[in-house]
Amino acid sequence: MFSRTRLLVGLQPRLVFAQQGSAVRSAVIARRLISSSTCSNAQHTHGHTPPLTSGIDQRTSHHPAPPKPQYDAQGNELDAYKDGPSALDKAVHLFFFTEIIRGMWVVLENFFRPPYTIMYPFEKGPLSPRFRGEHALRRYPTGEERCIACKLCEAICPAQAITIESEARLDGSRKTTKYDIDMTKCIYCGFCQEACPVDAIVETQNQEFSVETREELLYNKEKLLANGDRAEAEIAANLHSDHVYR
Ligand code: SF4
Ligand code: SF4
Repeated sequence: MFSRTRLLVGLQPRLVFAQQGSAVRSAVIARRLISSSTCSNAQHTHGHTPPLTSGIDQRTSHHPAPPKPQYDAQGNELDAYKDGPSALDKAVHLFFFTEIIRGMWVVLENFFRPPYTIMYPFEKGPLSPRFRGEHALRRYPTGEERCIACKLCEAICPAQAITIESEARLDGSRKTTKYDIDMTKCIYCGFCQEACPVDAIVETQNQEFSVETREELLYNKEKLLANGDRAEAEIAANLHSDHVYR
């Protein structure tokens, strides 16, 4: 028993050495295989392909060069660290925990600040007059529809979400018989509003029109006119505040 234990103890360093030796041999063989392998591109480009590298090369051959010294006009070497904190400064900060105290002060300041978050939907943040939300068709104060069926909005819509059909009135002007917007296609770019010559189609500030079915997002002319009637005062105010930029 004693001699067997001695034998095992004596063999242990050799086993470890043998394991290390086999790992080194595997690494050397892998390097030879990688350096001797050529890709088909290398044959066609006559050696212009960059040499293959392996993880072993990156681990063993990466020795970053030391930074080169900088010199002034008189040839004196510049000290890159002369404007930094001295060792005494660093020791004082370390000893008195000044960085921790500064961090705690920032926490204390923010503790007494009003919160940045709001309790949506009970509280709402401000919206720009240019906000592009749900669409609406507008009327003139007389009740007449503004839209003249020029179809510029349909032509410019990048999502092809607008479909218009029109007919001539008795006085020769045109009016729409169908004005549909597929709100599932709309990307809220606002191009239709920009293209409209009579401010008939607009995007309101309403962003809360989620529904449960896809069909409810296929808006027709009646739905769009109802949106316009409901939000006319807000639409008019927003267009007026923005008209100097248009
Ligand atoms: S907002 Fe853009 S995508 Fe939506 S209907 Fe108007 S033009 Fe088309
Ligand atoms: S909404 Fe405006 S752009 Fe579109 S058809 Fe009517 S008038 Fe023309």
